[in-house]
Amino acid sequence: MAALSFMRRLRLSKFVKQGVPSLSQVRHLNLQEFQSKKLMADGGINVQLFEVVDNKQDSAAVAAKLKVREYVIKAQILAGGRGKGTFDTGFKGGVHLTKEPSEVKPLVDNMLGHKLTTKQTPKDGVQVTKVMVAEALDIERETYFAILMDRSHGGPVMVGSPKGGMDIEEVAAKEPEAIFTVPIDILEGVKQEQVDFMAEKLGFTGPKQTEAADQMKRLYDLFLKVDATQVEINPLGETPDGRVVCFDAKINFDDNAEFRQKPIFAMDDMAESDPREVEAAKHNLNYIGMDGNIACLVNGAGLAMATMDIIHLHGGSPANFLDCGGGVTEEQVFHAFKLLSEDKQVKAILVNIFGGIVNCATIAKGITNACKSINLSLPLIVRLEGTNVEEAKKILAESNLPISSASDLDDAAKKAVASL
Ligand code: GDP
Ligand code: MG
Repeated sequence: MAALSFMRRLRLSKFVKQGVPSLSQVRHLNLQEFQSKKLMADGGINVQLFEVVDNKQDSAAVAAKLKVREYVIKAQILAGGRGKGTFDTGFKGGVHLTKEPSEVKPLVDNMLGHKLTTKQTPKDGVQVTKVMVAEALDIERETYFAILMDRSHGGPVMVGSPKGGMDIEEVAAKEPEAIFTVPIDILEGVKQEQVDFMAEKLGFTGPKQTEAADQMKRLYDLFLKVDATQVEINPLGETPDGRVVCFDAKINFDDNAEFRQKPIFAMDDMAESDPREVEAAKHNLNYIGMDGNIACLVNGAGLAMATMDIIHLHGGSPANFLDCGGGVTEEQVFHAFKLLSEDKQVKAILVNIFGGIVNCATIAKGITNACKSINLSLPLIVRLEGTNVEEAKKILAESNLPISSASDLDDAAKKAVASL
């Protein structure tokens, strides 16, 4: 099930920080549920009425304003599985239903400002800073529906299952026959018979089948319009009064489309991002934080991965993936060093540069300047090769800094591990 493994990768990429990331994992903007639902409502997709509260608002007043028969209170974090999550206070569940307006505020207060752990968050959980207070509807049946860009199909695919609401990976593992996949030709667009097929397989009947098919078409239009890599609705539910509603939504956006999706990317508050990644992004450095203690400064994603592999091979563990790219400047090298040295986890820095487009002397100047101005006290192992390497070695040697030079990658990794 290639489509599902792709989904899993996207979902986990934000949270799983061990191992070597692949480039396709590196960046996909993810918005909060309420932000996604706003885009959906604008596209004529059925979502519940909702308000969003943070600690500046009076949630009791918000509840009174909504005037609904029942409320659903939902913690807004980027991870899924909130319903079954637990707060650091011991309070259970990031999704609660209540018919009592007076119960809304206590429920919101149990969520706001507390950390929620679900099976998709880091183990310490994620701080909840916003809570959605929405109109709850009765759900008669929960189905699963997603559209994603899938490499194995070379384009978008719709994935659906009549077994929604729960963990779709578990359904895929135990009952693969309950998952339906329909590839879409991106040039022709989604066809009526394709959405009709999916709506039927998801168990919608009569007018609800027509409505579900129409919702799927609208979701596909949105998927294209916002340059999404994934739109996941779980559950896509039906109500006893015959409505088809997207109860939960997760949209990932392709970072390569940022230039034409400015309003969407502006909604990202980075609150749940690794602060090291936020800082690196300011200086156009490709950076991903990891759990180990050897920091790597490398040029080229392939070389970065090879460096991390060799560190592992020699019994070490990388603290990050940092690709400074081909057009790197002295200033970027400085910021890269600052970032690495300020990370308490880091116990040694390994620089591995293969100068092709990169001029090794630029790197050497960046390194020596950075070492001097930040008073670097960590072991620093440098392996430089390629364009202008002789000049670079001279700069390093004449700096009189305690820099350990390595003859090749293997040597560099061994020295880095030994320096710990
Ligand atoms: P998740 O746990 O992060 O996936 O959050 P969801 O928004 O999917 O909510 C979890 C579960 O709560 C859903 O699968 C539903 O069973 C239930 N739920 C969410 N919204 C409503 C609602 O409006 N009415 C009812 N009856 N159940 C809801
Ligand atoms: Mg859900």
